[in-house]
Amino acid sequence: MSAQRIYLDNNATTPTDPRVVEAMIPYFTNMFGNAASRNHPFGWEAEEGVDYAREQVAKLIGADPKEIIFTSGATESDNLAIKGVFEMYARKGNHIITLTTEHKAVLDACKKVEKLGGEVTYLDVKRDGLVDLEQLEAAMTDKTVLVSIMFANNETGVIQPMKEIGELCAKKGILFMSDITQAAGKIPVDVKELGIHLAAFTAHKMYGPKGVGALFVNRKGPRVKVTAQMDGGGHERGMRSGTLNVPGIVGFGKAAELCINEMAKDADRLSKLRDKLQVSLMEKLEEVVINGNEENRMPHVTNMSFKHVEGEGLMMTFNQNIALSSGSACTSASLEPSYVLKALGLGDDLAHSSLRFSLGRFTTEEEVEAAIDQVAEGVNHMRSLSPIWEMYKEGIDLESIEWSEH
Ligand SMILES: *Cc1c(COP(=O)(O)O)cnc(C)c1O
Repeated sequence: MSAQRIYLDNNATTPTDPRVVEAMIPYFTNMFGNAASRNHPFGWEAEEGVDYAREQVAKLIGADPKEIIFTSGATESDNLAIKGVFEMYARKGNHIITLTTEHKAVLDACKKVEKLGGEVTYLDVKRDGLVDLEQLEAAMTDKTVLVSIMFANNETGVIQPMKEIGELCAKKGILFMSDITQAAGKIPVDVKELGIHLAAFTAHKMYGPKGVGALFVNRKGPRVKVTAQMDGGGHERGMRSGTLNVPGIVGFGKAAELCINEMAKDADRLSKLRDKLQVSLMEKLEEVVINGNEENRMPHVTNMSFKHVEGEGLMMTFNQNIALSSGSACTSASLEPSYVLKALGLGDDLAHSSLRFSLGRFTTEEEVEAAIDQVAEGVNHMRSLSPIWEMYKEGIDLESIEWSEH
């Protein structure tokens, strides 16, 4: 019998909560109407489902329902916010500020903006992953139209000082956009209190279905507008055309409601399990480091490097029965070290030796205990085969070695 599979990759996607699936099902069958059909009850039912979901999703982040634009996910929301602001505010300026550790959806949208004649400043982060607020302020010019800084990082879980960033942006009259995907539904997010003007997030990272997300667009003080990136029937107040994914949106709403009710309980339980995982691995193994600021960090995430062990190989020792992410990204030709970890000052070796553990609502204590044992065993096994580890144990300074080239 094969070993039980353990899922510790909730930052990549979460399972859909069965209560969410249950709420969605009627909208595939009986209530299948098009929410834009204004002249019959099939349409009205669908619209009611969407309206209710819009309230639930808005409530999760302290917004008004009118400020929620439904999209296909956070990638689309990031694109709509960045390209949409760039186009809409072209007369005011063409400069955007972001971080090198942002998600690719933000970075690639910014690259597109550069191709279209925009200027983008990519700020480095400090070694703990946090933005340097002085550098941020210094980068702001009278051409700056947007600051895009994520709430919590997907690889490290590091949480940025959102309130301080919001205050800086307000002081300079610059719009503040945030990819809040990893924070929404997990920790309290209040866009008004934090001075966030645009926020991108997605259902499938908070126990909702894949393929549905939202962009929050502030309506008052300031009234923010974005140029639509999808033209068509003028749905979603003209900002995002296309027939609404009614079952998906209803599921997103239900997922938001569950998060509102359960996030405190989940966060409390998961932070204890995360800490147990971290402490146990550090007790069992030498030469382990935690990547990113530990105080300002999501409760269910830890990113750890196991020196002289390659993360991808380590996962093979437990036959990929424990689902994790490593600090290596597959490109067409090779395994590249994570750009996020490199931005924290990690060398290629340490980045390749990292694993991201992201726990979730359905993670059990037994699973965490099994993961601790198997990861520790895997690390020990790989180190026992490693000449580099042997040299380290013999006290040889690995930095001083000059490797011959073949
Ligand atoms: C997953 C993720 C995205 C992409 O979301 P999709 O809905 O899959 O497009 C964007 N930003 C962050 C921070 C993410 O973690």
